[in-house]
Amino acid sequence: MRVKQFFLSTLKEAPAEAELASHKLMLRAGLIKKLGSGLYTWMPLGLRVLRKVENIVREEMDRAGAIELLMPAVQPAELWQESGRWGLFGPQMLKIKDRHDRDFCFGPTHEEVISDIVRREVKSYRLLPLNLYQIQTKFRDEIRPRFGVMRAREFVMKDAYSFHADKASLDQTYQAMHDAYSRVFERLGLKFRPVAADPGAIGGTCSHEFHVLADSGEDAIAYCPTSDYAANVELAEAIAPGVKRGAALQSINKVPTPGKKTCEAVAELLKLPLQNTVKAIVVMAGKVGDEKAVMLLLRGDHELNEIKAAKIPELRGLRLASGEEIQKHLMVPVGYMGPIALAKKPLIIADRSVDTMSDFVCGANDYGYHLTGVNWGRDLPEPNLVADIRSVVAGDPSPDGKGELQIARGIEVGHIFQLRTKYSKAMGVTFLDESGKSKVMEMGCYGIGVSRIVAAAIEQNYDERGIKWPRAMAPFDVYIAPIGYKKSPEVQVAAQKLHDEVAALGLEVLLDDRDERPGVMFADQELIGIPHRIVVSERGLKVNILEYQQRGEYEALKLDLQSVLEKLKLRS
Ligand code: ATP
Ligand code: MG
Repeated sequence: MRVKQFFLSTLKEAPAEAELASHKLMLRAGLIKKLGSGLYTWMPLGLRVLRKVENIVREEMDRAGAIELLMPAVQPAELWQESGRWGLFGPQMLKIKDRHDRDFCFGPTHEEVISDIVRREVKSYRLLPLNLYQIQTKFRDEIRPRFGVMRAREFVMKDAYSFHADKASLDQTYQAMHDAYSRVFERLGLKFRPVAADPGAIGGTCSHEFHVLADSGEDAIAYCPTSDYAANVELAEAIAPGVKRGAALQSINKVPTPGKKTCEAVAELLKLPLQNTVKAIVVMAGKVGDEKAVMLLLRGDHELNEIKAAKIPELRGLRLASGEEIQKHLMVPVGYMGPIALAKKPLIIADRSVDTMSDFVCGANDYGYHLTGVNWGRDLPEPNLVADIRSVVAGDPSPDGKGELQIARGIEVGHIFQLRTKYSKAMGVTFLDESGKSKVMEMGCYGIGVSRIVAAAIEQNYDERGIKWPRAMAPFDVYIAPIGYKKSPEVQVAAQKLHDEVAALGLEVLLDDRDERPGVMFADQELIGIPHRIVVSERGLKVNILEYQQRGEYEALKLDLQSVLEKLKLRS
């Protein structure tokens, strides 16, 4: 391929709104162009990378026994009403109407459509198990589209759905897909980790996410270096402290803490460890229209985990209460709130670690005051409920009891779920078993963020000059930079010959025929991240020498044509 024919559109500077390295580099390298918020065109160069990812995903899905199909992106509302998700999915779903005023959505996911296909087409156990997948455009009206294709509104997903006669068969396919996902990320050359996950809005029971590890990742992953425990922090259990609550040694004391509205500020003022303080958070929970204020208690150095907390029946639908709501329901001053001396008595839920505290510090429910030396049972009743409502932190014991947790950051690139019968029951996806009895199918679903992978790979592989693609993802393998292209027929002939010989090795070659200065050509090649560069010059040709350099290496090697080809064979 020649550059002039191909169309490169690199930029010196990234647009100001790009924050993340991958977003900047994708725009600068001209892989994508922004059309609107969360909407991107895949330019020819970017599309080559996207297709490489797609191909590897497709090969591994096929190998795992999944069968490809393609469903419509636009879906009738009736199916979502049947599953109960038309109202539940929320504002992420782009709802549209046709000319007859009928409701549709642009599919954010395809459980309903695939269930409809399977309930119509698959009636007998003989056709099970069945695993169907597609690679297709999804739309989710993300509240904050950002980081380019990392969190876009329109994006490419591989989604697979499996159907089974029983749970054992689901387990088998789930494991096969787990393995296939691992192979995909290994082949892509990415550092990744599968972790136990929260099934979220898709639902179901067992679920794992696959994360590409990167410091810029939006997700925090808790893992144990001395065992194979790994879970999204959204889910990771903070196990009850091994210690019993200590005896009360101090008497309760009300101290002025004017202007000190955080545990950190109070601990500093009172010269006490942050771990001795208790913070109160008020949330609203319960059915819409009948929400109640609930007070949650956490140790000062811990953070509330809203996802874990929302699983407690009393905290269903939880959201943080506003200042007005706190005033209205509890009549306590924000910044000085605590579980003691409350005029109105809300439900009080204490984190497991708070339950073991004694002689602690908390808000006095009086403006500008805190209490010290507070003790459960003596100064206030025991909490209504003790539960795991905080996020784990580094150093917490691993829930498997085999060491201490560490925290790493990751980008979620895949997510697999055992849906069991959540959708098949709601939508009547049944089959006749061997004895002719009607049964509901077991179901699994498996997603890969194909377009997000491209950005995630860059987050893991770049330097100050640009992208350093893993071999399997590079848009081209080899870049030929001819010097003085226009004026030298020898250079033209040699560059073309080199192009053909490299192509004959089965490698993808880009020949820069723009007649640019070497600096410009090199900067583009390094920005785009093509792994191998070969310089052809008149001076070199006179002594049969080409200059070969691999992306990321500091020095070019002076080699003859055969040696260059040998090097490429070895390294690609
Ligand atoms: P996230 O937690 O990042 O919002 P999700 O859990 O909602 O993702 P899933 O429903 O599990 O996403 O979708 C499967 C995969 O699709 C995700 O693992 C992710 O890689 C990808 N994906 C989801 N939302 C987006 C998006 N807005 N832009 C790009 N890729 C996405
Ligand atoms: Mg997910």
